[in-house]
Amino acid sequence: MLNIVLFGPPGAGKGTQAEKLISKYNLCHLSTGDIFRANIKGETELGKLAKSYMDKGELVPDSVTISMLETEVDKNKQALGFIFDGFPRTTAQAKALSTFLSSKGTSISVMLALDVNEDELVKRLLLRGEASGREDDKDKSVIANRIKVYNEQTAVVADFYASEGKFEKINGIGGIDLIFSRLCSAIEKHYQTA
Ligand code: ADP
Repeated sequence: MLNIVLFGPPGAGKGTQAEKLISKYNLCHLSTGDIFRANIKGETELGKLAKSYMDKGELVPDSVTISMLETEVDKNKQALGFIFDGFPRTTAQAKALSTFLSSKGTSISVMLALDVNEDELVKRLLLRGEASGREDDKDKSVIANRIKVYNEQTAVVADFYASEGKFEKINGIGGIDLIFSRLCSAIEKHYQTA
């Protein structure tokens, strides 16, 4: 199985690149942010809980996020592989994912970390806020908090995969197709696709 962790700060372009990767490699896309937003829309208990954190730009607690993610993986038994987008965001999530995948006889193939500077991130998020109406993209202080949470809690997750020799830093500045080709080259270093 090709299992990818697509990583990077808010606004790095994970969603855009995930779309291209799933169609090229035939993978199942699991975005924890999208799953939370679907729950908020559906007014589920999980959605209500998640919203209280997301509105402030904080992380949803690990226990809730991990069990939700595991349920989603189990729903997709036929998948040839997964793109984990927005997960893991803490070292505890990374460890839980590793234990969970190894219980299924598989593992993460590579972490692709999109590297984008902070000025560019804020610009992209504010633009997305105008276009998509995502509440957490409209408010400058919520954006700033998401980037702060990323720097303080999430950036270290890269070290976890680096220690396993699975970390690939990808320049996230440039055209969509150029960035996509950088991602594909990195995947092919870790996984024989043909
Ligand atoms: P972005 O990366 O652009 O900020 P996401 O859609 O990935 O957007 O996530 C939106 C919000 O959902 C996060 O700010 C956080 O509150 C919550 N969230 C998403 N994934 C996780 C996760 N793995 N752990 C905890 N909270 C999460």
